[in-house]
Amino acid sequence: MLTLVPSPLALRFGEGSGERFYYFDKQLHMTASSPTLFFAKPQLQALLNELRGRGYCVVGPTIEQEAIVYSELQSVEELPRGWTDEQAPGQYRLKRRDDDAWFGFVVGPHSWKKYLFPPKATLLSAEKTETGWAFIPRAADSTRYALLGVRACELAAIRIQDQVFLNGPYQDPIYRERREQLFIVAVNCTQAASTCFCTSMNTGPRCERGFDLALTEIDEGFLCEIGSDLGRDVVAACSAAPATPAQLQAAETARQQAVDQMTRHMDISDLPGLLLGNLDHPRWKEVGERCLSCTNCTMVCPTCFCSSVTEVRDLNMETVERERVWDSCFNPDFSNLGGSPVRNDTASRYRQWLTHKLDSWHDQFGTSGCVGCGRCITWCPVGIDLTEEVAAIRETPTP
Ligand code: SF4
Ligand code: SF4
Repeated sequence: MLTLVPSPLALRFGEGSGERFYYFDKQLHMTASSPTLFFAKPQLQALLNELRGRGYCVVGPTIEQEAIVYSELQSVEELPRGWTDEQAPGQYRLKRRDDDAWFGFVVGPHSWKKYLFPPKATLLSAEKTETGWAFIPRAADSTRYALLGVRACELAAIRIQDQVFLNGPYQDPIYRERREQLFIVAVNCTQAASTCFCTSMNTGPRCERGFDLALTEIDEGFLCEIGSDLGRDVVAACSAAPATPAQLQAAETARQQAVDQMTRHMDISDLPGLLLGNLDHPRWKEVGERCLSCTNCTMVCPTCFCSSVTEVRDLNMETVERERVWDSCFNPDFSNLGGSPVRNDTASRYRQWLTHKLDSWHDQFGTSGCVGCGRCITWCPVGIDLTEEVAAIRETPTP
Protein backbone atom coordinates (compact mmCIF):
# COMPACT_ATOMS: atom_id res chain seq x y z
CA MET A 1 0.00 0.00 0.00
CA LEU A 2 1.47 3.37 -0.99
CA THR A 3 0.54 6.59 0.76
CA LEU A 4 0.87 10.05 -0.73
CA VAL A 5 2.86 12.41 1.44
CA PRO A 6 4.00 15.97 0.77
CA SER A 7 7.77 16.40 1.03
CA PRO A 8 9.21 18.71 3.73
CA LEU A 9 10.13 21.07 0.89
CA ALA A 10 6.52 21.15 -0.28
CA LEU A 11 5.30 21.91 3.20
CA ARG A 12 7.81 24.68 3.66
CA PHE A 13 7.24 26.37 0.35
CA GLY A 14 3.75 25.31 -0.47
CA GLU A 15 1.82 27.21 2.18
CA GLY A 16 -0.60 29.61 0.57
CA SER A 17 -0.37 28.16 -2.90
CA GLY A 18 -0.12 24.49 -2.02
CA GLU A 19 -1.38 22.60 -5.06
CA ARG A 20 1.33 23.84 -7.37
CA PHE A 21 4.08 22.53 -5.10
CA TYR A 22 2.20 19.38 -4.38
CA TYR A 23 2.08 18.54 -8.06
CA PHE A 24 5.31 16.59 -8.32
CA ASP A 25 4.99 15.18 -4.85
CA LYS A 26 1.95 13.26 -6.11
CA GLN A 27 4.20 11.39 -8.46
CA LEU A 28 7.48 11.32 -6.67
CA HIS A 29 7.25 11.50 -2.90
CA MET A 30 5.47 8.47 -1.62
CA THR A 31 6.08 6.29 1.36
CA ALA A 32 6.92 2.96 -0.15
CA SER A 33 5.76 0.19 2.08
CA SER A 34 6.02 -2.29 -0.81
CA PRO A 35 8.70 -4.90 -0.25
CA THR A 36 12.05 -4.33 -1.90
CA LEU A 37 12.19 -6.46 -5.02
CA PHE A 38 15.02 -8.31 -6.71
CA PHE A 39 15.55 -9.02 -10.39
CA ALA A 40 18.43 -10.58 -12.33
CA LYS A 41 20.64 -8.24 -14.36
CA PRO A 42 19.38 -9.20 -17.86
CA GLN A 43 15.90 -8.12 -16.71
CA LEU A 44 17.06 -4.50 -16.87
CA GLN A 45 16.57 -4.79 -20.63
CA ALA A 46 12.92 -5.73 -19.97
CA LEU A 47 12.59 -2.56 -17.89
CA LEU A 48 14.12 -0.52 -20.68
CA ASN A 49 11.83 -2.16 -23.27
CA GLU A 50 8.81 -1.50 -21.08
CA LEU A 51 9.67 2.19 -20.78
CA ARG A 52 10.32 2.50 -24.51
CA GLY A 53 7.08 0.64 -25.22
CA ARG A 54 5.24 3.22 -23.10
CA GLY A 55 6.65 5.98 -25.29
CA TYR A 56 9.57 7.12 -23.15
CA CYS A 57 12.88 8.22 -24.56
CA VAL A 58 15.22 6.36 -22.18
CA VAL A 59 18.45 8.20 -21.42
CA GLY A 60 21.28 6.89 -19.31
CA PRO A 61 25.04 6.58 -18.90
CA THR A 62 27.19 5.51 -21.82
CA ILE A 63 30.75 6.10 -22.98
CA GLU A 64 31.53 8.85 -25.48
CA GLN A 65 34.83 10.65 -26.01
CA GLU A 66 36.48 8.77 -23.15
CA ALA A 67 33.97 9.92 -20.55
CA ILE A 68 30.74 8.56 -19.10
CA VAL A 69 27.98 10.85 -20.36
CA TYR A 70 24.19 10.70 -20.59
CA SER A 71 22.64 9.82 -23.92
CA GLU A 72 19.66 7.97 -25.39
CA LEU A 73 19.83 4.21 -24.78
CA GLN A 74 18.26 1.49 -26.92
CA SER A 75 19.88 -1.38 -25.07
CA VAL A 76 21.61 -2.15 -21.77
CA GLU A 77 24.61 -3.18 -23.89
CA GLU A 78 25.29 0.57 -24.24
CA LEU A 79 25.84 0.99 -20.47
CA PRO A 80 29.51 1.39 -19.38
CA ARG A 81 29.63 -2.13 -17.97
CA GLY A 82 32.98 -3.02 -16.40
CA TRP A 83 34.21 0.60 -16.47
CA THR A 84 34.87 3.05 -13.69
CA ASP A 85 35.99 6.67 -13.44
CA GLU A 86 38.96 7.97 -11.47
CA GLN A 87 38.48 11.59 -10.46
CA ALA A 88 40.56 14.24 -8.71
CA PRO A 89 40.76 18.05 -8.93
CA GLY A 90 41.23 18.80 -12.63
CA GLN A 91 41.46 15.08 -13.51
CA TYR A 92 39.12 12.47 -14.97
CA ARG A 93 40.12 9.07 -16.36
CA LEU A 94 38.15 6.00 -17.38
CA LYS A 95 39.57 2.74 -16.15
CA ARG A 96 38.62 -0.92 -16.54
CA ARG A 97 37.21 -2.46 -13.38
CA ASP A 98 38.25 -5.92 -12.28
CA ASP A 99 34.58 -6.94 -12.31
CA ASP A 100 31.62 -6.51 -14.66
CA ALA A 101 29.62 -4.00 -12.59
CA TRP A 102 26.93 -2.21 -14.61
CA PHE A 103 26.93 0.99 -12.52
CA GLY A 104 30.43 0.89 -11.01
CA PHE A 105 31.21 4.56 -11.64
CA VAL A 106 30.13 7.91 -10.22
CA VAL A 107 29.07 11.06 -12.12
CA GLY A 108 30.62 12.50 -15.29
CA PRO A 109 30.60 15.86 -17.05
CA HIS A 110 26.91 15.66 -17.99
CA SER A 111 24.06 16.17 -15.60
CA TRP A 112 20.35 15.49 -16.09
CA LYS A 113 19.66 19.22 -16.30
CA LYS A 114 20.37 19.05 -20.01
CA TYR A 115 17.06 17.18 -20.42
CA LEU A 116 14.96 19.40 -18.15
CA PHE A 117 16.64 22.74 -18.84
CA PRO A 118 18.09 22.22 -22.34
CA PRO A 119 21.35 24.04 -23.25
CA LYS A 120 19.57 25.69 -26.18
CA ALA A 121 15.84 26.23 -26.59
CA THR A 122 13.82 28.24 -29.09
CA LEU A 123 11.34 30.47 -27.28
CA LEU A 124 9.71 32.13 -30.27
CA SER A 125 10.17 32.47 -34.05
CA ALA A 126 9.18 35.14 -36.51
CA GLU A 127 8.86 34.97 -40.31
CA LYS A 128 8.80 37.87 -42.70
CA THR A 129 5.57 38.15 -44.66
CA GLU A 130 4.39 40.51 -47.37
CA THR A 131 2.73 42.71 -44.79
CA GLY A 132 5.17 42.49 -41.89
CA TRP A 133 6.21 39.72 -39.47
CA ALA A 134 4.30 36.62 -38.42
CA PHE A 135 5.16 35.46 -34.92
CA ILE A 136 5.13 31.72 -34.27
CA PRO A 137 4.86 30.61 -30.66
CA ARG A 138 7.11 27.84 -29.34
CA ALA A 139 5.71 24.38 -30.00
CA ALA A 140 5.22 22.33 -26.83
CA ASP A 141 7.76 19.54 -26.40
CA SER A 142 6.06 16.18 -26.19
CA THR A 143 9.21 14.10 -25.49
CA ARG A 144 8.76 11.97 -22.40
CA TYR A 145 12.10 11.22 -20.80
CA ALA A 146 12.92 8.27 -18.58
CA LEU A 147 16.21 8.88 -16.77
CA LEU A 148 18.10 5.69 -15.96
CA GLY A 149 20.89 5.80 -13.38
CA VAL A 150 20.08 8.97 -11.40
CA ARG A 151 22.25 9.17 -8.28
CA ALA A 152 21.12 10.55 -4.90
CA CYS A 153 22.96 13.86 -5.33
CA GLU A 154 21.30 14.19 -8.74
CA LEU A 155 17.84 13.63 -7.26
CA ALA A 156 18.68 16.45 -4.86
CA ALA A 157 19.80 18.63 -7.80
CA ILE A 158 16.48 18.01 -9.58
CA ARG A 159 14.61 19.02 -6.41
CA ILE A 160 16.65 22.23 -6.33
CA GLN A 161 15.90 22.99 -9.96
CA ASP A 162 12.21 22.33 -9.24
CA GLN A 163 12.46 25.15 -6.70
CA VAL A 164 14.14 27.42 -9.21
CA PHE A 165 11.98 26.74 -12.25
CA LEU A 166 8.60 25.84 -10.78
CA ASN A 167 8.14 27.16 -7.28
CA GLY A 168 9.09 30.80 -7.75
CA PRO A 169 6.94 33.66 -9.01
CA TYR A 170 7.48 32.47 -12.60
CA GLN A 171 7.14 28.88 -13.83
CA ASP A 172 9.37 27.94 -16.71
CA PRO A 173 7.10 26.23 -19.29
CA ILE A 174 9.90 24.23 -20.95
CA TYR A 175 11.10 22.79 -17.65
CA ARG A 176 7.55 22.14 -16.56
CA GLU A 177 6.58 20.21 -19.72
CA ARG A 178 9.58 17.94 -19.40
CA ARG A 179 9.39 17.55 -15.63
CA GLU A 180 5.71 16.64 -15.58
CA GLN A 181 6.32 13.65 -17.80
CA LEU A 182 9.58 12.49 -16.25
CA PHE A 183 10.17 8.91 -15.10
CA ILE A 184 13.16 8.40 -12.81
CA VAL A 185 15.07 5.16 -12.27
CA ALA A 186 17.57 6.03 -9.55
CA VAL A 187 20.66 3.97 -8.81
CA ASN A 188 22.31 3.93 -5.38
CA CYS A 189 26.04 4.58 -5.46
CA THR A 190 28.20 1.65 -4.40
CA GLN A 191 31.42 3.60 -4.69
CA ALA A 192 32.54 7.22 -4.32
CA ALA A 193 35.07 9.33 -6.21
CA SER A 194 37.69 11.35 -4.36
CA THR A 195 35.76 14.47 -5.41
CA CYS A 196 32.37 13.41 -3.94
CA PHE A 197 31.13 15.04 -0.73
CA CYS A 198 27.37 14.37 -0.75
CA THR A 199 27.48 13.14 2.86
CA SER A 200 28.51 16.69 3.91
CA MET A 201 25.56 18.19 2.02
CA ASN A 202 23.08 15.57 3.32
CA THR A 203 22.15 14.63 -0.23
CA GLY A 204 23.45 11.06 -0.48
CA PRO A 205 24.71 8.57 -1.23
CA ARG A 206 21.41 6.79 -0.48
CA CYS A 207 18.45 7.58 -2.79
CA GLU A 208 15.61 8.26 -0.39
CA ARG A 209 12.89 10.08 -2.34
CA GLY A 210 12.02 11.66 -5.64
CA PHE A 211 12.22 8.50 -7.78
CA ASP A 212 9.81 6.08 -9.42
CA LEU A 213 12.21 3.17 -8.96
CA ALA A 214 15.54 2.96 -7.14
CA LEU A 215 18.04 0.19 -7.85
CA THR A 216 20.99 -1.12 -5.87
CA GLU A 217 23.40 -3.31 -7.80
CA ILE A 218 24.79 -6.47 -6.22
CA ASP A 219 26.77 -9.25 -7.94
CA GLU A 220 23.75 -11.34 -8.85
CA GLY A 221 21.29 -8.59 -9.86
CA PHE A 222 19.44 -5.46 -8.76
CA LEU A 223 17.46 -4.71 -5.63
CA CYS A 224 14.55 -2.46 -6.57
CA GLU A 225 12.63 -0.05 -4.33
CA ILE A 226 9.33 1.29 -5.61
CA GLY A 227 8.67 5.04 -5.27
CA SER A 228 5.43 5.51 -7.22
CA ASP A 229 2.42 3.64 -8.56
CA LEU A 230 3.76 4.13 -12.07
CA GLY A 231 7.08 2.63 -10.97
CA ARG A 232 5.28 -0.38 -9.61
CA ASP A 233 3.46 -0.86 -12.93
CA VAL A 234 6.65 -0.58 -14.93
CA VAL A 235 8.72 -2.96 -12.81
CA ALA A 236 6.05 -5.63 -13.30
CA ALA A 237 7.75 -6.25 -16.66
CA CYS A 238 10.92 -7.47 -14.93
CA SER A 239 10.02 -10.86 -13.40
CA ALA A 240 10.92 -9.40 -10.02
CA ALA A 241 10.43 -11.20 -6.71
CA PRO A 242 10.69 -10.00 -3.10
CA ALA A 243 14.37 -9.75 -2.12
CA THR A 244 15.74 -12.33 0.30
CA PRO A 245 17.40 -11.27 3.60
CA ALA A 246 20.79 -12.20 2.10
CA GLN A 247 20.16 -9.97 -0.93
CA LEU A 248 19.03 -7.08 1.30
CA GLN A 249 22.19 -7.46 3.36
CA ALA A 250 24.38 -7.55 0.24
CA ALA A 251 22.75 -4.32 -0.98
CA GLU A 252 23.30 -2.64 2.39
CA THR A 253 26.98 -3.63 2.31
CA ALA A 254 27.34 -2.34 -1.26
CA ARG A 255 25.79 1.03 -0.35
CA GLN A 256 27.91 1.35 2.78
CA GLN A 257 31.01 0.96 0.61
CA ALA A 258 30.23 4.33 -1.01
CA VAL A 259 29.88 5.99 2.40
CA ASP A 260 33.16 4.48 3.59
CA GLN A 261 35.01 5.66 0.47
CA MET A 262 33.96 9.29 0.86
CA THR A 263 37.07 11.24 1.88
CA ARG A 264 36.17 14.79 0.92
CA HIS A 265 34.23 16.88 3.41
CA MET A 266 32.77 20.36 3.60
CA ASP A 267 31.81 21.84 6.95
CA ILE A 268 28.44 23.56 6.43
CA SER A 269 27.81 24.44 10.08
CA ASP A 270 28.37 28.18 9.43
CA LEU A 271 26.76 28.22 5.98
CA PRO A 272 24.85 30.31 5.09
CA GLY A 273 26.67 33.27 6.59
CA LEU A 274 30.38 32.52 6.39
CA LEU A 275 30.98 33.71 2.83
CA LEU A 276 28.72 36.77 2.83
CA GLY A 277 30.42 37.73 6.09
CA ASN A 278 33.82 37.62 4.38
CA LEU A 279 33.31 39.51 1.14
CA ASP A 280 36.67 41.31 1.46
CA HIS A 281 38.68 38.21 2.35
CA PRO A 282 42.09 38.10 0.57
CA ARG A 283 41.32 34.52 -0.55
CA TRP A 284 38.98 35.85 -3.27
CA LYS A 285 41.89 37.67 -4.90
CA GLU A 286 44.11 34.62 -4.58
CA VAL A 287 41.54 32.26 -6.19
CA GLY A 288 40.84 34.93 -8.83
CA GLU A 289 44.48 34.68 -9.90
CA ARG A 290 44.15 30.92 -10.48
CA CYS A 291 40.66 30.89 -12.00
CA LEU A 292 40.51 31.08 -15.81
CA SER A 293 36.87 32.24 -15.88
CA CYS A 294 36.33 29.36 -18.31
CA THR A 295 32.74 28.63 -17.07
CA ASN A 296 33.35 24.86 -16.83
CA CYS A 297 32.20 24.68 -13.22
CA THR A 298 28.85 26.26 -14.04
CA MET A 299 28.31 24.17 -17.17
CA VAL A 300 28.83 20.86 -15.35
CA CYS A 301 27.00 21.88 -12.16
CA PRO A 302 23.60 20.14 -11.97
CA THR A 303 21.97 23.11 -10.23
CA CYS A 304 23.39 26.18 -12.04
CA PHE A 305 20.63 27.76 -14.09
CA CYS A 306 21.89 31.01 -15.64
CA SER A 307 20.83 31.63 -19.22
CA SER A 308 20.78 34.40 -21.81
CA VAL A 309 18.27 35.13 -24.53
CA THR A 310 19.48 36.13 -27.99
CA GLU A 311 17.82 36.71 -31.34
CA VAL A 312 19.29 34.72 -34.22
CA ARG A 313 18.31 35.56 -37.79
CA ASP A 314 19.01 33.76 -41.05
CA LEU A 315 21.28 35.29 -43.70
CA ASN A 316 18.30 36.37 -45.84
CA MET A 317 16.82 38.25 -42.87
CA GLU A 318 13.54 36.43 -43.38
CA THR A 319 13.32 34.40 -40.18
CA VAL A 320 14.35 35.18 -36.63
CA GLU A 321 14.50 32.82 -33.68
CA ARG A 322 14.60 33.90 -30.08
CA GLU A 323 16.87 31.41 -28.36
CA ARG A 324 17.61 30.74 -24.74
CA VAL A 325 21.11 29.35 -24.16
CA TRP A 326 23.00 28.38 -21.02
CA ASP A 327 25.15 31.23 -19.75
CA SER A 328 27.45 31.62 -16.79
CA CYS A 329 28.17 34.18 -14.08
CA PHE A 330 31.85 33.70 -15.05
CA ASN A 331 31.21 35.44 -18.39
CA PRO A 332 32.01 39.17 -18.08
CA ASP A 333 29.02 40.07 -20.24
CA PHE A 334 26.64 38.27 -17.92
CA SER A 335 26.71 41.23 -15.53
CA ASN A 336 26.88 43.88 -18.25
CA LEU A 337 24.84 46.85 -17.08
CA GLY A 338 24.92 50.32 -18.60
CA GLY A 339 27.75 49.41 -20.96
CA SER A 340 30.19 47.64 -18.63
CA PRO A 341 30.25 44.52 -16.44
CA VAL A 342 29.34 44.95 -12.78
CA ARG A 343 31.77 42.13 -11.93
CA ASN A 344 34.71 43.16 -14.02
CA ASP A 345 37.43 40.90 -12.64
CA THR A 346 37.73 37.15 -12.19
CA ALA A 347 37.93 37.32 -8.39
CA SER A 348 34.57 39.10 -8.19
CA ARG A 349 33.01 36.55 -10.55
CA TYR A 350 34.30 33.58 -8.55
CA ARG A 351 33.07 35.27 -5.36
CA GLN A 352 29.66 35.80 -6.93
CA TRP A 353 29.44 32.13 -7.92
CA LEU A 354 30.49 30.70 -4.57
CA THR A 355 28.56 33.11 -2.35
CA HIS A 356 25.43 32.46 -4.39
CA LYS A 357 25.89 28.70 -4.46
CA LEU A 358 26.52 28.22 -0.75
CA ASP A 359 25.13 31.31 0.93
CA SER A 360 22.56 33.56 -0.74
CA TRP A 361 20.93 30.57 -2.51
CA HIS A 362 19.46 29.77 0.92
CA ASP A 363 17.70 33.16 1.03
CA GLN A 364 16.48 32.79 -2.52
CA PHE A 365 15.36 29.14 -2.62
CA GLY A 366 15.47 27.86 0.97
CA THR A 367 18.28 25.40 0.29
CA SER A 368 21.96 25.26 -0.59
CA GLY A 369 22.76 25.41 -4.31
CA CYS A 370 25.36 22.66 -3.92
CA VAL A 371 24.62 18.94 -3.66
CA GLY A 372 28.22 17.78 -3.26
CA CYS A 373 28.54 15.98 -6.60
CA GLY A 374 32.13 17.18 -7.08
CA ARG A 375 31.80 17.89 -10.82
CA CYS A 376 33.09 21.47 -10.53
CA ILE A 377 36.23 20.13 -8.82
CA THR A 378 36.94 17.44 -11.42
CA TRP A 379 36.22 19.58 -14.47
CA CYS A 380 38.00 22.74 -13.35
CA PRO A 381 41.06 22.82 -15.61
CA VAL A 382 43.19 24.27 -12.81
CA GLY A 383 41.72 22.06 -10.08
CA ILE A 384 40.03 24.75 -7.95
CA ASP A 385 38.16 22.96 -5.18
CA LEU A 386 35.26 24.78 -3.51
CA THR A 387 35.65 22.73 -0.32
CA GLU A 388 39.23 24.02 0.01
CA GLU A 389 38.15 27.59 -0.70
CA VAL A 390 35.48 27.49 2.01
CA ALA A 391 37.92 25.94 4.50
CA ALA A 392 40.55 28.59 3.73
CA ILE A 393 38.11 31.43 4.38
CA ARG A 394 36.93 29.81 7.59
CA GLU A 395 40.50 29.40 8.85
CA THR A 396 41.30 33.11 8.59
CA PRO A 397 38.05 35.07 8.72
CA THR A 398 38.34 38.80 8.10
CA PRO A 399 37.79 40.87 11.25
S1 SF4 B 1 28.84 23.44 -6.88
FE1 SF4 B 1 30.16 21.77 -7.61
S2 SF4 B 1 29.92 20.12 -6.11
FE2 SF4 B 1 28.25 21.58 -5.78
S3 SF4 B 1 26.54 20.77 -7.01
FE3 SF4 B 1 27.62 22.24 -8.34
S4 SF4 B 1 29.12 20.98 -9.45
FE4 SF4 B 1 28.39 19.73 -7.74
S1 SF4 C 1 36.70 27.85 -11.00
FE1 SF4 C 1 37.74 26.52 -12.52
S2 SF4 C 1 36.08 25.73 -13.81
FE2 SF4 C 1 35.25 27.51 -12.72
S3 SF4 C 1 35.57 29.23 -14.11
FE3 SF4 C 1 37.36 29.16 -12.73
S4 SF4 C 1 38.88 27.91 -13.85
FE4 SF4 C 1 36.89 27.55 -14.86
